Amino acid sequence: MTMHEFMEKIEKRNPGEELFIQAVKEVVETVWDTYINNPRFVKNNVLERMIEPERIIIFSVPWVDDQGEVQLNRGIRVQQNSAIGPYKGGIRFQQSVNVSTLKFLAFEQTLKNSLTTLPMGGGKGGSDFNPTGKSDSEIMRFCQAFMQELFRHIGPQTDVPAGDMGVGAREVGYMFGMYKKLANNFTGVITGKGLNWGGSRFRPEATGFGTVYFAQEQLKTKGTNFAGKRVAVSGFGQVSWGATIKATDLGAKVVTLSGPDGYIYDEKGVSGDKIKYMVDMKLSNRNVVKDYADKFGVPFFPGKRPWDVKVDIALPCATQNELDEKDAKTLISNGVICVTEGANMPCTPEAMHLFKGAKILYAPGKASNAGGVSTSCLEMAQNATHCSWTGEEVDAKLQNIMKSIHEQCVIHGIEADGFIDYVKGSNIAGFMKVANAMCDQGVV
Ligand code: GLU
Repeated sequence: MTMHEFMEKIEKRNPGEELFIQAVKEVVETVWDTYINNPRFVKNNVLERMIEPERIIIFSVPWVDDQGEVQLNRGIRVQQNSAIGPYKGGIRFQQSVNVSTLKFLAFEQTLKNSLTTLPMGGGKGGSDFNPTGKSDSEIMRFCQAFMQELFRHIGPQTDVPAGDMGVGAREVGYMFGMYKKLANNFTGVITGKGLNWGGSRFRPEATGFGTVYFAQEQLKTKGTNFAGKRVAVSGFGQVSWGATIKATDLGAKVVTLSGPDGYIYDEKGVSGDKIKYMVDMKLSNRNVVKDYADKFGVPFFPGKRPWDVKVDIALPCATQNELDEKDAKTLISNGVICVTEGANMPCTPEAMHLFKGAKILYAPGKASNAGGVSTSCLEMAQNATHCSWTGEEVDAKLQNIMKSIHEQCVIHGIEADGFIDYVKGSNIAGFMKVANAMCDQGVV
């Protein structure tokens, strides 16, 4: 079978699922040679089996809003692959969420989790619930209603959800509370918990910190670092927040943040109290970044993305396909040296190819944003042994994990001229581990 025929089969099986096909295609293109030249992988049909989720649970989530009206949303959990550990991955609450979105994320998560070197399978869940403008009580009732069904499908050795877009510490708390009540079991079934009840130090910061640690490793290969660099960050949620803190700590200046409404440009840099304000913006549930411009008197560019600004480093931390071909061209002509993804699949395939062609340091999210889920696994380890590690211990482990992900990317992605293809490197490394585990475990 040729790669083209293989992809045709996958596209036929998943009609109209554009995001899922985009994610799968990128992986298939880079792992095909590894797959087809390994008789054991071919005999076990591992690539096709890895692409197909092991199970998808779809359920209705009826809940009552503040006006007493009954609302309905759809809940979904994609349990993608359990070859190397229990399903693991976040929950996303966003109006546009559908099965295709969550299948793309669960597939990416499977390879990402494999890369972390930790024992986690891949999964993702969510709902088309839109948190924007909802009251705290509405958020609580929705989270409880969502967990009323999800609780029977998850467990610390089965499937361990966490946060993602629209799901932070507050939502994790409400979901955990309902799980505990229904299961009559206080256990590490969900990560991103509060520090007083089983959470890990640095989990909120971990994805953003990890992204910067990964970028640091990339910059090291060129003999440079974050000190004195201008950085464009997109988004203003948890990942952007963590990345801004760490990049600033390392001496860089973060000059942009963005939201669905546009972007802000802060020439002096997002630092100190302005970073704290990012948390308030998130908790306000307004989902607009313009509030930052109004509060600190900096320029706001409505309807625009931050990639027009001249920077050395770009950290796309908002959402999928937020940086396209045109943006990539602008960044390259403005002299960007490093593009490291904090979000999942924020660069379009065209943008990725341009970065590769220009030999820019470019890292895909499945490698560079894996610090979040890695720290989730550290949280699971602490829960399982009823202990709590210090911030220093967790941070040191996180830095080591990011370094080892970078090393795997180099091993599998280095080219003859020394250029590191992080896309190829991360896909092959992530794929091999899961594929070998699937072969070892037989056709199940
Ligand atoms: N949602 C995060 C991710 O995309 C974290 C998942 C987790 O901690 O399980 O990797």
